[in-house]
Amino acid sequence: MKLKKILLSTFVFSVIFSVFLLGQGYHAHAEEGDCPYGDGIHRMAAKGTAVVKDENTGDYIFTGTFFKCKNCGDWIVVSGYPQSGGSIGKYITEGTITGSLREGFTIEVNPDYVYHTKDTKLPGYRFYKM
Ligand SMILES: [Zn+2]
Repeated sequence: MKLKKILLSTFVFSVIFSVFLLGQGYHAHAEEGDCPYGDGIHRMAAKGTAVVKDENTGDYIFTGTFFKCKNCGDWIVVSGYPQSGGSIGKYITEGTITGSLREGFTIEVNPDYVYHTKDTKLPGYRFYKM
C-alpha cells in the first residue's frame, strides 16, 4: 500500500512538472518574435507611400513607406529606408487604414504610438524592397 502511494505521488509530480516545462517552452518560443508564422520574424515588404495622420485631429504627422508582412499581413509605416540599409526614423504599427492601397493613401493613427529610432533594424522585423 505504501509503495503504491509513493508511485502515485511520483506520477502526479511528473505530470505537474511536465506541464510546467511545456509552459516554459511555450513562453520562450513566443518571445522570439511577433509573427505567428515561420520563425516569428515579420517579413515586411514595401508596398508604397503612405501619409500618416492623427486619428483624432486629422493632423499630418509624417509621410513614409508602407510595409506589409508577407506571412501574417501585419503592417508598419516607416519614414526612413530600412529596406535599403538606412535608418528607420519615425514608425507606426497601430492604427486604422483609410482609403485603398495606392501611392499616398492615408493611415490614421493614435499619435501616442508614433515611435522614432535612428537604428537600421527593428527587433522582430525584416524589411524588403518588395
Ligand atoms: Zn508577420
